[in-house]
Amino acid sequence: MGIFSVLVDAPAYAGLGDALDYTSEVPLEPGQLVRVPLGRREVLGVVWDSAPAQHLDPAALRAVIEAHAGLPALNPAWRKLVQFAAQYYQRALGEMAAQALPPALRSLSAERLARRLNKQGASTRAGAGPASHSPTMAEAPPPTPEQASVLTTLAAPDASGTSLLFGSTGSGKTEVYLQRMASVLSADPQAQALIMVPEINLTPQLQERVRSRFEPLYGPGCVVSMHSAMTPVQRLNAWLSAHLGHARIVLGTRLAVFASMPGLRLIVVDEEHDPSYKQQEGARYSARDLAVYRGHLEGIQVILGSATPSLESWHKSRPCEGEDGGGRYLRLAMPSRVGATALPEVRCVDMRLMPKGTLFAPLLLDAMRERVDQGEQVMVLLNRRGWAPVLVCSDCDWKSECPHCSAYRVFHREDRTLRWHHCGLTGRVPRHCPGCGNLDLGWQGRGTEQLQEHLQQWFAQRAHPSGRPYGVLRIDADSTRLKGHLEQQLAQVHSGEVDVLVGTQMIAKGHDFRRMGLVVVADPDGALFSADFRAPERLFALLMQADGRAGRAAREPGAAPAQVLVQTRHPEHPLFEALKRHDYPGFAQSQLLDRQAAGMPPFTHQALVRTQARAIEDALDFLEAARQLGLTMAGEWVTLYPAVPMAMPRVANAERAQMLIESPNRAALQHFLSQWSTTLHEQRALHKRVTRWAVDIDPQAI
Ligand code: ADP
Ligand code: ZN
Repeated sequence: MGIFSVLVDAPAYAGLGDALDYTSEVPLEPGQLVRVPLGRREVLGVVWDSAPAQHLDPAALRAVIEAHAGLPALNPAWRKLVQFAAQYYQRALGEMAAQALPPALRSLSAERLARRLNKQGASTRAGAGPASHSPTMAEAPPPTPEQASVLTTLAAPDASGTSLLFGSTGSGKTEVYLQRMASVLSADPQAQALIMVPEINLTPQLQERVRSRFEPLYGPGCVVSMHSAMTPVQRLNAWLSAHLGHARIVLGTRLAVFASMPGLRLIVVDEEHDPSYKQQEGARYSARDLAVYRGHLEGIQVILGSATPSLESWHKSRPCEGEDGGGRYLRLAMPSRVGATALPEVRCVDMRLMPKGTLFAPLLLDAMRERVDQGEQVMVLLNRRGWAPVLVCSDCDWKSECPHCSAYRVFHREDRTLRWHHCGLTGRVPRHCPGCGNLDLGWQGRGTEQLQEHLQQWFAQRAHPSGRPYGVLRIDADSTRLKGHLEQQLAQVHSGEVDVLVGTQMIAKGHDFRRMGLVVVADPDGALFSADFRAPERLFALLMQADGRAGRAAREPGAAPAQVLVQTRHPEHPLFEALKRHDYPGFAQSQLLDRQAAGMPPFTHQALVRTQARAIEDALDFLEAARQLGLTMAGEWVTLYPAVPMAMPRVANAERAQMLIESPNRAALQHFLSQWSTTLHEQRALHKRVTRWAVDIDPQAI
């Protein structure tokens, strides 16, 4: 009989260590999955590398219930990844491991798992090897000179680390991923590749492209998806297929970074700048950063791709210059679009010349109609859903404040509701002003609903040359709440029924709309002067994405060039100037200079402690107490800023406060946090009125 340490998902610091000791009659190896008793429950555990505590009396320990014998152990690289993630993001190891495994695995007995494995084995044997003839076989096109040069660089032995593929939208980045994957997979029959995307439902075309490229070579089932919209059973099957080495390619969202892939040889992170790579609850990990770390652990290549890289990755891929030895990433550029379709022309429409409250400048409406009449489509982008951000009374000061939050409720006219987008509260629109009884309630600002209706009315008064009515469609989180609606609405756009597409950032990402000739950016000014220092970076990425939607297909000779029209009261703003030149490097350089001068990331490293309580004082007291104790251990490299109420302090009746911790040195920050975390937990136990708290490392929004 032996004693083994086993990781279980026990809440951190609930008096239990990270791994618990159990006895087992049969020998167990690290990484093996087992079922163990925990209190009165029976839970999934992972046999861990840590040595059991010394001088244990086996009689005092509980025994492992069963081992999942048919399942290979999770390999050392996977275990190191989980270990690193737990430590870096300040979470319990057991919690991290649980989060990294498919939920359905937790409740499966060894017997049921064995049956499932039998089925898996049978189905892969049936599908093993290439399909003899496949009608959908998609041949790889011969690479363009830019693609060829990038592929040659990536194939060189010294490109085994992380590369940043900086390529304009439509420059053929996806094709580079596919061809690089093809050569890695063909070099070794065991090799596997992981390709990550921000949101899978926005990229059905990519799934199709990957399948049709590789299924003819490696058989159906060689590509599996992993994302949170899959059922638990689908996720389990995909996970098993990758873990057993049956799947050669995993295509997934951020959670796929933890897929167990014994043959992993390549990781691709598409749209690496996208904020959805950061998990926003529980262990707040960045899947992009973990992908880079995983590549480092496994000694394999990682490709980060984007037309507008995150400033972090851009900075890390800077070339050597003088004293500066340059970044650790290799920067690869593909500036041209495939087929030499020119990037669209970007122009600002000066809204200072229009009456206040104008939704669309008249010249812009005419431009839209002209495009549509020529058989093209128009996209109207506004990052605010609903009708208007706030309902107001014209007589008194009443505004539609949310009773539970410190923000206004958004007026949705479609279903006459007031909704608050943060706490989810929905209510009827009042018939008269709750403040003074005035029946004449108006609104301020605009949302996608309002733009859609305005455009519908404007186009309804006009006739299309063919006599049919114009089609105006809106796509945003409201229009796509029901399952299947997004796909249905995208199909409408592709089929050409839609002339004008109104929407939020959802419509700007990734879609290959072939006939989009004009993109209208309705009201981007808010992000120019936001309190969030990342707002301009996000706006620029969004506008470049939108810009990438326009004019993807080669245009008819003599046709007007594709256009992006930006309605703004700040037409001379440097962000728009850079956008006009499609100049990401110029924009990035000016942002990085600003960030350096202000001591912001990527020149410093940050962590946030966030707390919630019913009263703001309680949230602040806890943070202040922890800060005072932290100051004594911080040393000169780490700065602890005073605790402050959050910009939006009240959400769903909880008051929220936060405290920023900063250091120019990542290791110093990590060292401080790991020491300070015991203090935080002790203080939490003393401040019982704090309802929630969390540490966010490398926060995306402050
Ligand atoms: P990105 O991912 O950079 O936006 P894609 O890889 O999707 O670019 O390529 C844009 C378009 O160009 C796609 O329709 C793709 O099929 C096509 N394409 C890419 N590479 C080539 C090539 N070498 N030859 C012909 N067409 C290509
Ligand atoms: Zn009033």
